[in-house]
Amino acid sequence: MNLPNPNSVEFIINLVSVLLLALGIKGLSKVKSSKVANRLAAFAMFLAVVGLLSKYLLNSDGGISLSSWFWIIIGTVTGSLLGAITAKKVPMTSMPETVALFNGSGGMSSLLVALGEAIFNSNFNNINNVNIFIGIISISITIFVGSITFSGSIVAMAKLQGWLSTPNWTQNKFRHFINISLGIISLIALIDLIQNWNINSIWLLVIGSLLLGIGVTLPIGGADMPVVISLLNSYSGIAAASAGFVVGSQLLIVAGAMVGAAGLILTQVMCKGMNRSLVSVLFGGTLASQSKTSAGGGEYTNITSCSVEECALSLEAANKVIIVPGYGLAVAQAQHTLREVTKILEENDIEVNYAIHPVAGRMPGHMNVLLAEADVPYEQLKEMEIINPDFPATDVVLVLGANDVVNPQAKNDTSSPLYGMPVLDVQQARTVFVVKRGMSAGYSGIKNDLFDLPNTSMIFGDAKNVLSELITELKGLGVGSK
Ligand code: NAP
Repeated sequence: MNLPNPNSVEFIINLVSVLLLALGIKGLSKVKSSKVANRLAAFAMFLAVVGLLSKYLLNSDGGISLSSWFWIIIGTVTGSLLGAITAKKVPMTSMPETVALFNGSGGMSSLLVALGEAIFNSNFNNINNVNIFIGIISISITIFVGSITFSGSIVAMAKLQGWLSTPNWTQNKFRHFINISLGIISLIALIDLIQNWNINSIWLLVIGSLLLGIGVTLPIGGADMPVVISLLNSYSGIAAASAGFVVGSQLLIVAGAMVGAAGLILTQVMCKGMNRSLVSVLFGGTLASQSKTSAGGGEYTNITSCSVEECALSLEAANKVIIVPGYGLAVAQAQHTLREVTKILEENDIEVNYAIHPVAGRMPGHMNVLLAEADVPYEQLKEMEIINPDFPATDVVLVLGANDVVNPQAKNDTSSPLYGMPVLDVQQARTVFVVKRGMSAGYSGIKNDLFDLPNTSMIFGDAKNVLSELITELKGLGVGSK
């Protein structure tokens, strides 16, 4: 391990970037400070690149050749451009696959750093030296975790993008035998590498752990996929922290540790929100394959559909309204139209709040970000535990493109795959309007008992179109012109 001299410019710049990164990550926890915090973290990363290059610029490392400078500049410019284009172009609904791709890139970078150091640094034969021994352990762990992260993330991205489906044979218990065998092979290679620095074991470790990443991720599907992505995010942090020990970068060690810990916490939050244990996510197969064998399906028997006009009349007469946003609202990009509707209601002294379920949408915080984009006041966004007791005293609930998160089966039907998942108790309100395009199921693929209840009316249509019509109807009724 090669830590920089504490008196060097590189060390000081690294230290400043670590502090700025930590401040940036802290700021991300609040909506108000998140924009500035994001820029601060990005600036910290830029500073880190400058810090690394400073040792070559100031010649404290003997300098590097012109061709190396050429490749460093090409790499930095290409990476920055790709990052900026992706950030601008990718819609919010495709964020999980983008995160998966970024995790995979992180895993691959750590893997390549460790491989480069293992192959081109000849010092590793002296295992008795403590520094070299730490280097060998770091290289081995980085290769192991980096490979799993890379291959697992690419599989996850391909599945979310619809390029890859879950093969039937991976739902068979035989997959555990294959994965355990791959795990044992990787472990043997890892131990051999640490004990004997046998360079051939590196390739066995790379192949074994790449296949293990594929083998573990391929059987997982449905609603569990974002949980796996969050877990892979954590792995990418662990790989980066370990790569930090390989190249002696405090920034990589600290940033990687923060990502590793944050990813683990997020994984736990998501598992809790979906009432799934991490073990059942990783080893239980797809949720869809479980739903086929359990209850939760069945036909609808009591669907009432209504017009936008009827909904407008109920809203006009209401004192208290709760909006439940879901994935469909994001798909329809209807957040701004929704804000116009709620402004009209508020002008008529109708109390409006938004019920935010922890896993509404396709990633944690999806709905908060979506509504913040439309300038919905943050105080009106109420978390599930806070707003659930308010439903019995609510006149109208407007469910917009949400499905699983309002399914009463999660509380009432012990045989449902959703049973135990905390949900919003919208059925306790006086009237519930559900806006969706048809009767298709939500992410879990099961029937929603809410739609059959007598106080529920369905309004079929794209969320944005329905909300636009609602504005016209409300204005026609004179609502908002008080
Ligand atoms: P959901 O259960 O996936 O339901 C979304 C509904 O939106 C669908 O029923 C769909 O019905 C409707 N829809 C789609 N496009 C629409 C449009 N343009 N206009 C109107 N409606 C539209 O969504 P959710 O209630 O938000 O639940 C999230 C699900 O994702 C949960 O199962 C959760 O466990 C899972 N998940 C979330 C996270 C997370 O972190 N947020 C992580 C992992 C898993 P139609 O096709 O009939 O319109």
